[in-house]
Amino acid sequence: MKIKPAPGAYDFQLLIKNILAYSLVLEPEREIVYSNKSRYNYHTLNKRIRQLANVLNSLGANGGAPVGVIDYDCHRYLECYFGIPMTGNVLHTVNWRLSPAQILYTIKHAQDKILIVNEDFLPLVEGFIDQIPFVAHIIVTTDNNSAASNAYKSYEHLLLQAADTYDFPDFDEDAVATMFYTTGTTGDPKGVYYTHRQLVLHTFHLAATFGFVGGAAGRMSSDDVYMPLTSMFHVHAWGFPYLATMYSLKQVYTGRFDATTVTELIANEGVTFSHCVPTILQMVLNKADEQQTDLSRWKVVSGGAAMPVALAKRALQMGIDLRASYGMSETCPVICSGYIPLACKDNDIDWQARTRSRTGTWPLFTDMRIVDAQGNDVPKDDTTQGEIVLRAPWLTNGYLYDDVRGAELWTGGYLHTGDVATINERNSIRIADRIKDVIKSGGEWISSIALESFIGQHPWVAETAVVGLPDAQWGERPCALVVPHAGKTLTADILRDHLQQYVNSGELSKWAVPELYKWVDAIPKTSVGKIDKKEIRRSI
Ligand code: AMP
Repeated sequence: MKIKPAPGAYDFQLLIKNILAYSLVLEPEREIVYSNKSRYNYHTLNKRIRQLANVLNSLGANGGAPVGVIDYDCHRYLECYFGIPMTGNVLHTVNWRLSPAQILYTIKHAQDKILIVNEDFLPLVEGFIDQIPFVAHIIVTTDNNSAASNAYKSYEHLLLQAADTYDFPDFDEDAVATMFYTTGTTGDPKGVYYTHRQLVLHTFHLAATFGFVGGAAGRMSSDDVYMPLTSMFHVHAWGFPYLATMYSLKQVYTGRFDATTVTELIANEGVTFSHCVPTILQMVLNKADEQQTDLSRWKVVSGGAAMPVALAKRALQMGIDLRASYGMSETCPVICSGYIPLACKDNDIDWQARTRSRTGTWPLFTDMRIVDAQGNDVPKDDTTQGEIVLRAPWLTNGYLYDDVRGAELWTGGYLHTGDVATINERNSIRIADRIKDVIKSGGEWISSIALESFIGQHPWVAETAVVGLPDAQWGERPCALVVPHAGKTLTADILRDHLQQYVNSGELSKWAVPELYKWVDAIPKTSVGKIDKKEIRRSI
């Protein structure tokens, strides 16, 4: 039955402006801190966002205009998260860690009308300025309060001259709010985009997923001090800045990543909640060890790559409340996060490390399936592998101006993640691999992630990555790149002996134990700090 709304009934649209509006309700005196460079409260944030809106309008961005931002993680970026979409324009978060050619590609593909550029990146932009004639204005940001350059408009000067009142309009919640580019294993970067409605629903999804759990299980609550450690250019820093702003948490932004700055900010600003990829966590733990920083009040959501059990154990031993999560660029990004049953909290640390490093628990408000090659749901035996496919209100509808790859993503009406996983009877999933990374040996599949986790538990291993190499007899065989701890000499025999315990316990098949090991100084990483298997395969 459908009932016609009453005359005059208001058709409420899910717009980002409603997230910001609530930031003045609970704790508006709390601060937004940018490293040791700036701090102000939510009243000022709101005023500056209104000033930014007036600036955008005065430059002709009155709705629908893509506005690219190339900056470090800071308060200005947060202002852009709101001011650009709330004026009906589209925030394009430019990944400045890509190659100059790829950055140019993304700006051209997005057809940005305005670029907001940190002065450090001006030489980069000037290098291809003649190829982006569609950019009508370049606005320069700087930490030094200088005008940066006479040739460009300064962000701070423009804001200073603008009125700090602005009536943000209502419009269709399905209007695109944000976009950014993701790099696959082949082809040009793909533009992923999200609407106001999707971002608002994803914010509620985060609030429910991270607000519901019990105390020492990665909860985000009203007295947390939030500091993201995933770049703001990558999937809106996992959407947490929107949630933190809605609940007026104290927020701390680091600028360009540097482990010393991070540990200092945790100590000096009382940071209690962060999220990052495992490699960043490892760097912070190394620095904290060196500087004797107390991390026992720190909650960390790890995601973007599998959490190695050894790293989870180390974090737990340092008193960190660790929680794994799973998502991807195309899913806004958070799909699910680990639920730690409270009854099991007292269990030993090895159990905790294994449990907390699992990928996550069945997600809220999501039609998730784990399906085999025939499209059948796999049993909940934690052994049978299948691809994770999804439907949820906050998944990208496709790729920008690319119907072919968008249709591939949504084959059969489900978003195909390309991730292979198992699920247990408690609805906890564990990713075995990317379909593209799984090692196909003698007709069987070997999980490179599982091998990395087992090898990484040897005390002399600092870091490891496993890839499949072509093999005449078996199709592919695993090859492990290993970074030994300083002063330790590892051999293939030592690691094969170490892996025998997992063969004995039935967690690893005998034929999955690698014969090939390479000792290296560092593991190649992608622009967002994950193990770069494409590069490893290319370089071996
Ligand atoms: P991106 O789109 O660059 O953010 O990468 C998303 C991919 O990272 C996913 O498709 C997974 O392959 C991987 N990933 C994210 N979270 C996890 C996790 N908790 N465990 C294993 N892999 C993950």
